[in-house]
Amino acid sequence: MDHASTAVRGAPGLADAHPVALPEPLVDAYATMRPRSREIFERACVALPGAETRSVTHFAPFPTSIERGAGSRLHDVDGHEYLDVVNNYTSLIHGNAFAPIVEVQIPLLSSGTAFSALHLRQLELAEALRARVASVEQVRFTNSGSEASALALRIARKATGRRGLVMATGAYHGGVDPFHPDAPEVIRVDYNQLDGLDSAITESTAAVFMEPFLGAGGVLPGEPEFLRAVQDRAREVGAVFVLDEVQSLRNGFGGMQSELGLDPDLTTMGKIIGGGLPIGAVGGRARLLELTSPLVPERLEHSGTFNGNIPAVAGGVVALRHLDGARIEQLNTDAALLAERIEAAGRASGMPVTVTRSGSIMNVHPGAARVHTPKAAHRGLTFRAALHLALLVEGVYAAPRGMLNLSTVLTPEDLEAVAAGYARAFEHLSDYQALLERDGEAA
Ligand code: PMP
Repeated sequence: MDHASTAVRGAPGLADAHPVALPEPLVDAYATMRPRSREIFERACVALPGAETRSVTHFAPFPTSIERGAGSRLHDVDGHEYLDVVNNYTSLIHGNAFAPIVEVQIPLLSSGTAFSALHLRQLELAEALRARVASVEQVRFTNSGSEASALALRIARKATGRRGLVMATGAYHGGVDPFHPDAPEVIRVDYNQLDGLDSAITESTAAVFMEPFLGAGGVLPGEPEFLRAVQDRAREVGAVFVLDEVQSLRNGFGGMQSELGLDPDLTTMGKIIGGGLPIGAVGGRARLLELTSPLVPERLEHSGTFNGNIPAVAGGVVALRHLDGARIEQLNTDAALLAERIEAAGRASGMPVTVTRSGSIMNVHPGAARVHTPKAAHRGLTFRAALHLALLVEGVYAAPRGMLNLSTVLTPEDLEAVAAGYARAFEHLSDYQALLERDGEAA
């Protein structure tokens, strides 16, 4: 086998974007079948920096251009069909263009999408969230999870009169400045490590943000004792404990907080609660949310032209209505089974992998060793990029960093096909094992 490699700029979705060397035959198998995607990519490089507009869509040699989505399938501009296990980064819990959501959203497009006014649909989504999420007494909408993080932090700072922000290394709370790894006033703690919590969370801490599992950090589940210790310490010093359920809300009927035994002061939400459209929300204690109320003096101003836009909030209500406890249970069980099958397929092809999982969200990592830290979850760039490309060749649309998640519209046959796609992708990679091992990344 020819182990020639193509040096391409890659590391999609990862902060550390150094070049990866992918096996040339694999790159060829992908690229020759996608001339239209290549054309669009080259054209897009002029008007869009690097031909993208969010930092998770680029991958080497060029990304496939998706034309449309239907249920569990994506279709690209070159006529390929893919099983969608990205679901727009976990937001499409019912797959693409879910009919009950679309039926509600389409008429709303012709009766006005956003008004500078209160709308009954906003109230309906706020009430649905209150009914599901135990700690949520009041809700304020934003246009994204990132904006929800920013708002939650502003509320915490206003409530405490402090500035400090504590978050975990490897955590992701959105692309807004205060949460940037190098932002001032940020103190990092190691996720799932009790040591160091007391010295990090102090009387100068305004907010402590935690994810129930590190999502972008590699789908690493949080230990309930750790998360409870963080919450307790935040309470002890009078800081606001913010649970980021932007991604995890789909994993439990009321998010993951009840099963983890958590009672956050604020909860940030997003993704599934917009029925496929942009949304974010901060929910939580009325005494904190009331700080944004126009009915209180010196309130915290929080504006947003499209906050609570009507098709998004109406779609969110339908998405939640179709996500009852039984459906979530089924998704989580299916995901556990798929994770086992992916690991078994890796072993069978001599390309061992491990799958980390929280509910119906998973991440495939190279090597047989269990992955517990964000650092370990970012190893193996060549393997991740090559697996991603091999999966596309086999008709499976997973995330470049190895993340995959389920939607309720994937049938048992679809799940079968996803598992078979992984098995075939590993077979592709086993041809290049020497190359991957030479990088020191496959082990
Ligand atoms: N928090 C978490 C846990 C997320 O996963 C994300 C998005 N991946 C965000 C916040 C930011 O949400 P958005 O992309 O809607 O701004």
